[in-house]
Amino acid sequence: MIRLDGVTKRYANGHQGLTEVSLTVHRGEFVFLVGPSGAGKSTLIRLLYGEERPTQGEVTIDHFRLKKLNMRQLPRLRRQLGIVFQDVKLLPTRTVFQNVAFAMEVVGASRKDIMKRVPQVLELVGLSRRRDHFPNELSGGEQQRVGIARALVNQPSYVVADEPTGNLDPDTAAEIMKLFQEINRRGATVVMATHAKDLVNQLQKRVVAIEGGRIVRDEARGAYGYES
Ligand code: ADP
Repeated sequence: MIRLDGVTKRYANGHQGLTEVSLTVHRGEFVFLVGPSGAGKSTLIRLLYGEERPTQGEVTIDHFRLKKLNMRQLPRLRRQLGIVFQDVKLLPTRTVFQNVAFAMEVVGASRKDIMKRVPQVLELVGLSRRRDHFPNELSGGEQQRVGIARALVNQPSYVVADEPTGNLDPDTAAEIMKLFQEINRRGATVVMATHAKDLVNQLQKRVVAIEGGRIVRDEARGAYGYES
């Protein structure tokens, strides 16, 4: 379970990212975070993976209280979280296989586990035939699939995504969204900040709308609700 309890995030420059946000996301849920640019979506996502700390309030993920997290616990929390960004940032001199394998190497997985797991996750994202290609040989959608494979390879309970379809054309974005649905169907909890209005409206998932750092709407089967 993800819980934000009265969370306020004030940046050093005085900007207020979030103001007294409380939110609970249960295991197995699929949640869209929507709202205009500057609303606080990325701030919320960064608080979830420990990139930012709340100024006030508490962020809890399962038994991890993020305020109390020490250097030893952060890697353990991150193993429970798969993180997907708009800008994928693959290692340019490594193949698809090696990019995904790297995420397992850094958490100390064995060679045997890597050789078993990486092909499984490449199959899931539809990239088996691209395993020996380099990032610059891939389309934008394929690069994002590698990003998703990398996020999933350590079998996280939670997948947190910040505008994962932001750089993609509508058809490719729809394919990537299908992949997130499949990931959710297989048991991962998904929290995704997005501007993909049509896809949000189609999917009929929980929609949490943020404006000016506050939650202004939280609907179980919601719509995007903005004109952008
Ligand atoms: P969104 O993802 O919805 O576009 P953000 O979380 O990026 O919104 O931004 C929310 C507010 O926090 C904005 O006023 C923004 O300027 C501010 N903000 C975001 N990140 C930082 C940062 N690293 N330093 C200072 N202010 C920031």
